[in-house]
Amino acid sequence: MSDKESLRVEILEYAYISLARRGMEKISLDQCFLKNCDNKDIKLLEPFKKVEYEEKNKQIKEIFIRCKKCEGIFILKLENLKRVAKSTKDDDEEPLSM
Ligand SMILES: [Zn+2]
Repeated sequence: MSDKESLRVEILEYAYISLARRGMEKISLDQCFLKNCDNKDIKLLEPFKKVEYEEKNKQIKEIFIRCKKCEGIFILKLENLKRVAKSTKDDDEEPLSM
């Protein structure tokens, strides 16, 4: 069940990082976040593992990425606020079974 292609799809090209004073900042995820590494080549970044869990009202997704340039591993932590209200628009309507 290690499907690297689908992992790649799940990683957004950009993420919004919340900064204490300046609000949200958009950063590119196509880079290595390890110190002393300037890799900005997405081909050298290989996602190999995904962990999902819920925390309070957030859906946390951690994606483990191996950098082939510095041989290091870092984790992208993506947080999604769980939708409180359901939108009916993109719901797959399931027929009611009785
Ligand atoms: Zn690196």
